[in-house]
Amino acid sequence: MNIHEFQAKQVLARFGAPVPKGHPASTPEEAAKAFEALGQPKAVIKAQIHAGGRGKAGGVKLVSSAAEARDFAAKLLGKPLVTHQTGPQGRVVRRVYVEQASEVARELYLGMVVDRKARSVAVIASTEGGMEIEEVAAKTPDRILTEPIDPVIGLAGFQARKIAFALGLRDKQVGQFGALLGALYKAFLETDASLIEINPLVVTKDGSVICLDAKMSFDDNGLFRHADIRELRDPNEEDPAETEASKYDLSYVHLDGNIGCMVNGAGLAMATMDIVKYYGAEPANFLDVGGGANSQKVAAAFRILLSDDRVKAVLINIFGGIMLCDVLAQGVVDAAREVKLSVPLVVRMEGTNVDKGKQILKDSGIKVIAASDMADAARRVVEAIGHRAQA
Ligand code: GDP
Ligand code: MN
Repeated sequence: MNIHEFQAKQVLARFGAPVPKGHPASTPEEAAKAFEALGQPKAVIKAQIHAGGRGKAGGVKLVSSAAEARDFAAKLLGKPLVTHQTGPQGRVVRRVYVEQASEVARELYLGMVVDRKARSVAVIASTEGGMEIEEVAAKTPDRILTEPIDPVIGLAGFQARKIAFALGLRDKQVGQFGALLGALYKAFLETDASLIEINPLVVTKDGSVICLDAKMSFDDNGLFRHADIRELRDPNEEDPAETEASKYDLSYVHLDGNIGCMVNGAGLAMATMDIVKYYGAEPANFLDVGGGANSQKVAAAFRILLSDDRVKAVLINIFGGIMLCDVLAQGVVDAAREVKLSVPLVVRMEGTNVDKGKQILKDSGIKVIAASDMADAARRVVEAIGHRAQA
């Protein structure tokens, strides 16, 4: 789960990380009031969406009066902001953050992730702040320092100093940075975070080290332990299809292709995506309906697939182990009637009650392309969207 910048800053501040003062605002009037409440000559107005690249896209502005704050908030609020991370449709700005402006001397990068290879949390630091870290990694990998933190020992003083020196920090900044890094690490562990990214971490003109931007993501499997973090969820920022899928306990991930896939079992779902690609098309999603799905669940899954208007054909690939093929077939028939199926449907099923299942599909009058095995199914669905099956 992801949260907004202002929320991440609130969480990090609770653990003692230095962040500028600020107030979220959802109307231009609130933004003007927030400016006055800060009581500073300058403030920064920042669009709050779950995407980076706002600065370059015109979503961040320095203002020096309440009227200016109001005007810029009015310009952002209620409209989509397109950044290189949002896709061409952008994301609607529903809130801005009005933050005390900082005088920036240097912009650095600081991240914290779960490093599976090192089996620990790792700190990622770079002097190239304010840029995309992926770009730095591709062009100048020598400017990135990765430091794993031993989970038993914790963050050691020498590690914090090593990173501070690599970032070119000196004197009292080294101590400040150590405390900041300690706060981030504590926040990371105690909230079951999966990512903290401070880009940029800045050195201000008066020599302080502060978090100017903040991004936090959390491990969904840990959320049950954190009611306070769960409350920060913003459904507006989530894919409606994924939200709908989670209601039915379906594992669904939206992808960029046009073949909708409905499969049971994560392994079979992966294999199905692979074979669709192998025959020259792209899956529109990953969808695992699970082992013991009933017909309502199958119908919900089918509706979710078809609600994506990029889906040009559907491939159902089910192995009836615990799941019964006739139950699946009934779910598909119910859903296909409900949504008035308008794209080709290829079905490959195998296993328990497969003959009963096939009979249900046949008797339903719904146009189904029956496939004999997985390769046949993939080939047929690729041909159904007018591609020539490769391989
Ligand atoms: P992002 O573009 O979505 O990552 O948004 P950021 O929060 O990183 O802001 C983008 C850029 O705006 C930063 O890299 C800074 O250069 C600039 N910026 C943001 N806040 C301030 C501020 O308080 N003072 C100054 N001088 N620049 C700021
Ligand atoms: Mn940033």
